[in-house]
Amino acid sequence: MPSPTQLLLTWYDQNKRDLPWRRDKDPYHIWLSEIMLQQTRVEAVKGYYARFLALFPDVQALADASTEDVLKAWEGLGYYSRARNLHKAAKEVTDKWQGHFPDTYDGLLSLPGVGPYTAGAIASIAFDRAVPAIDGNVYRVMSRFQGVREDIAAPSVQKTIRQEVVQLLNTHRPGDLNQALMELGATVCTPTSPKCDSCPWQSLCDAFSEGDMEQLPVHEKKKPPKIIPMAVGMVTYNRKILVSKRNQKMLQGMYVFTLLEDETRPEVCQDLLNEMGLRCSFVKKLGEGRHVFTHRVWEMEYLHFELSELPEDAVLSSMNAFLADASQLAALPIPSAMKEACNHAMKLIGREKNGKS
Ligand code: SF4
Repeated sequence: MPSPTQLLLTWYDQNKRDLPWRRDKDPYHIWLSEIMLQQTRVEAVKGYYARFLALFPDVQALADASTEDVLKAWEGLGYYSRARNLHKAAKEVTDKWQGHFPDTYDGLLSLPGVGPYTAGAIASIAFDRAVPAIDGNVYRVMSRFQGVREDIAAPSVQKTIRQEVVQLLNTHRPGDLNQALMELGATVCTPTSPKCDSCPWQSLCDAFSEGDMEQLPVHEKKKPPKIIPMAVGMVTYNRKILVSKRNQKMLQGMYVFTLLEDETRPEVCQDLLNEMGLRCSFVKKLGEGRHVFTHRVWEMEYLHFELSELPEDAVLSSMNAFLADASQLAALPIPSAMKEACNHAMKLIGREKNGKS
C-alpha cells in the first residue's frame, strides 16, 4: 500500500493547476506569489503577479523602486501593509543578504511580512527544506484526514497537526508535498461539499469513514466580549482635570480619567465620587463612546463633574491620581480608549490636543 505521502504526490503530479509561480523555483517568484495570495484569490493574483514582475523583475529592482511605485503596482489588491513589507523585505535582502534570499526557515522568518506559513512555503518550495507550511487549508485537510475533533484553534491541536505534517514531509520533494496539501485543500477538500470521490486519501481518511467531513475542523465558539458600561468622570478644578495612572494589568502605566465601571447614572456617579473623597457636583453629559478590547467592550459615557475643593493628598495618592493642566495632559501616555475623552478634556481645560493620544 503506498504511503499517504506517495498517494498525495502522485495525485498532485496528475492534478496540479498550472499557475505562473509554479513554473520555476526562484525564491523571488515564490515569495511574491505567497505574499499576494494572502487573503486574495488565485484568479485575482495572476494579473497582479504578471504586472508586478514586469515592473520589478527581480528583488534588486523592487528594492530600488520608490514606495509610491510599489504601492501603485499593488493598488486594488488591498491590505497595503503587505506591499510596504514587501518593499522593506526586498531592501533587506539586497542590503543584508547581498541580493540572495536567505535559504533557511529562520532566515526567511526574519524578513518583514514573512510569518511561519510563508517562511515554510518559501523554504520548502525554493530551497527543498523539509519544513511545514500550514495555513487554514492545511489545518482543514489534516483535521479531516486524521479525524481531529477538538477545537482547531487550540495550541495543542495545532501542534499535533504540525507533527503529522512533518511526518508527511519524509520525502525528497518537501516543497511539492506542501503545495499538494494546499492544492488538495483548495480544490478537493474544500470547506463545504468536499469532493471525497476525487481524493487520493479517501480510503485512509477518518472523517470520510465517519461521514462528518463537513463538521470538521471544529471551531469552538469564542466567548463574545463582555460589555461593560462605564462612566468616564471628567473631574475638573480650575482648568485642570483629574487623571489616574493605571495599576491594573489592562492598560497598566497609562493615564485615564476617573473611571466608574458598571455605573453611568450621573447622580449615582456623583455620590460615588463624593464617597471616594472627591467633593464635586455633576455639570453635564459630554457624549458617549465605545472601545472594543479583545475580551471586553467599554460602553462609555463622558460625564463632567466640577470639584468644589482640592482633594486631599491621601485621596489623590490612593487613586494614583493628580490634577493635570492642558500641557501636562498632552504629554501623558493616554490609551486610545481615552482618545475621545481626551478631546473633551482639552475643550474643558484649555486647548485641543495635537498629535496622537
Ligand atoms: Fe477531505 Fe474527503 Fe479527502 Fe477526507 S476524503 S481528506 S474529507 S476530501
